[in-house]
Amino acid sequence: MRIEEVASTTKTQRIATHTHIKGLGLQENGEPHPMAAGFVGQEQAREACGIVVGMIRQRKMAGRALLLTGAPGTGKTALALGISQELGTKVPFCPMVGSEVYSTEVKKTEVLMEHFRRAIGLRIKENKEVYEGEVTELTPEFTESEAAGYGKVVSHVVIGLKTVKGTKQLKLDPTIYDSLQKERVQVGDVIYIEANSGAVKRVGRCDAYATEFDLEAEEYVPLPKGDVHKRKEIVQDVTLHDLDSANARPAGGQDIMSVMGQMLKPKKTEITDKLRQEINRVVNRYIDQGVAELVPGVLFIDEVHMLDMECFTYLNRALESSLAPIVIFATNRGICEIRGTDIASPHGVPVDLLDRLVIIRTLPYTPQEMVQIIAIRAQVEGISIDEESLAYLGEIGERTSLRHAVQLLTPSAVLAATNGREGISRGDLEESDGLFHDAKSSARLLHEQADKYIT
Ligand code: ATP
Repeated sequence: MRIEEVASTTKTQRIATHTHIKGLGLQENGEPHPMAAGFVGQEQAREACGIVVGMIRQRKMAGRALLLTGAPGTGKTALALGISQELGTKVPFCPMVGSEVYSTEVKKTEVLMEHFRRAIGLRIKENKEVYEGEVTELTPEFTESEAAGYGKVVSHVVIGLKTVKGTKQLKLDPTIYDSLQKERVQVGDVIYIEANSGAVKRVGRCDAYATEFDLEAEEYVPLPKGDVHKRKEIVQDVTLHDLDSANARPAGGQDIMSVMGQMLKPKKTEITDKLRQEINRVVNRYIDQGVAELVPGVLFIDEVHMLDMECFTYLNRALESSLAPIVIFATNRGICEIRGTDIASPHGVPVDLLDRLVIIRTLPYTPQEMVQIIAIRAQVEGISIDEESLAYLGEIGERTSLRHAVQLLTPSAVLAATNGREGISRGDLEESDGLFHDAKSSARLLHEQADKYIT
């Protein structure tokens, strides 16, 4: 089996505002700390989520799902992320909004399927041949020189590597460049370089020197094929969707995502059911061989009331699959019509799916809790703000929403900086609150001034 570099296709922008959430902040006995792991308040819901984590670990959630209900901005996304973090650091978290299924290009069930596969992780362990040592020299860019015997100019990256056997200068092919940048490798770092079929595939960091090192490196290489310097277990975490898209890319080039090498031939250009089935088959074989381990992640579907019958039918079936992630739904609706029908149902979810759900409710925050949450976000974003302004932002949050208050931090910091001040003042907040509308006041304004807009 060959596994090359896979760029993960995780959707990061959606969770950028939740980077301070590190778990559910529970004590050993399952009770919540008032403030921990980035979480403030919402204690009952956090405790209940902790119980769900226990059920997931004991495999008691199979075929079931979790529904978080509560007003907007009461931390439903944050709770779902917290659950995924409690399950493990490498557990994939894939957020989506119900309305995302309505695309003109792609079938609804296809969108759901892709998100399901983004939420299923695979941990692949391989024994690789690597060079290992301390970096003594590093050319910041490609260097060009004449390749011996070829009479043509080739570009390469020069690395000096001090191993237990002495220092060697390696000329490596430019494919290593991305890896070096990603790992931010500098002189003095201890790294390993993985060779594969003569080309460099990957660079990683090592904690320390290997003692049983045996280097027979030649100078000026592409690293020679089959020349074992050290065996190292390399662990790679990918999602099923990463594998789908890497195998669906057009043939040729090893620059972008290429995965599992020639695992499937010929290369296809789009992700089809057949391709997914083939990937599943190979993945299952690796799991049986003990090479790979399945890491079910969390699929978070916000605004579940936006889904229609076709989606619900699909979800009911998908939840039964052995390759299913943990599905967490969220909604702020009470009883409403199931989309596309005139049947009213709690949360707009059909009864057969409701039967499978564990439901947890989130409650509105007190002004004090809002202030604490905003203070955490300000700290994470490196924005300084005084007590008075924080309290004022808490008031804005109460009047509008927590999300709006948190979102005012960045523009206010920009205003403060423009005026040559380091921290946010109340004036900055007033100004940005006037410039940026929260959803409610924006809708009200549009309604009040409806005659001035084209309808
Ligand atoms: P919902 O999904 O209920 O609408 P959310 O989790 O998406 O809520 P936002 O409304 O986006 O949350 O909340 C604004 C910010 O406050 C986010 O950065 C979120 O991580 C944070 N936040 C929400 N609840 C808490 C909490 N209990 N503790 C700490 N941070 C929180």
